[in-house]
Amino acid sequence: MIQSEHQRRAYLEALGIDVWLPRAEPEPEVIAADLQPVAMDWSALRETVSQCTRCRLHESRTQTVFGVGNPAANWMIIGEAPGAEEDRRGEPFVGRAGKLLDEMLRAVGQNRETAFIANILKCRPPNNRDPKPDESSECRGYLERQIGLVQPRIILAVGRIAAQLLLETDSPVGRLRGRRHQLGDTPLVVTYHPAYLLRSPVQKRKAWDDLCLASRVAAETGA
Ligand code: URA
Repeated sequence: MIQSEHQRRAYLEALGIDVWLPRAEPEPEVIAADLQPVAMDWSALRETVSQCTRCRLHESRTQTVFGVGNPAANWMIIGEAPGAEEDRRGEPFVGRAGKLLDEMLRAVGQNRETAFIANILKCRPPNNRDPKPDESSECRGYLERQIGLVQPRIILAVGRIAAQLLLETDSPVGRLRGRRHQLGDTPLVVTYHPAYLLRSPVQKRKAWDDLCLASRVAAETGA
């Protein structure tokens, strides 16, 4: 359901429909290549990410994995990086872990169309190794702009890498989960990565508690 002027505009923009606004002065032509991510709209950001060569990962990727979902979502899910299947298909969380993430979202009334799903990295690290510090810092502006454009009411960070990089800490997930954090103005909840839950199903109970917490926080902020 479209809930606000921000969401309406974001939908129209994502569909490529111009939103007409009264304007006092004609604006100078803006060339996407000259912009920093922080000033980009969705189409400039998507285009810039698709051509990104800021780190070595562009050499081994099949394609970038920008993110998927509602451009004005209340829930934003942030994972680590594309794996082999995501690199092939250009969409985050489409492998086995992705199926579990879909189930987790369904349990809180969300899905790939209502939420926005993105990763810390837009390119697959070879052999699914952890992101290197320069890779995550080169990619950070893109994710920050995605968060700025979506303006979610709750961010769910899934897994150690996303949680630690977003919160700039080296605490383990076991200590970060189960409570509310802030990323700037946006509340953030940490939970286990679905790939980890596939290996350790006994932790699903805690992940459920985290989802309930995220739902409560989202409700407090109006979602
Ligand atoms: N794991 C992630 O963190 N992200 C994906 O897109 C796929 C698997």
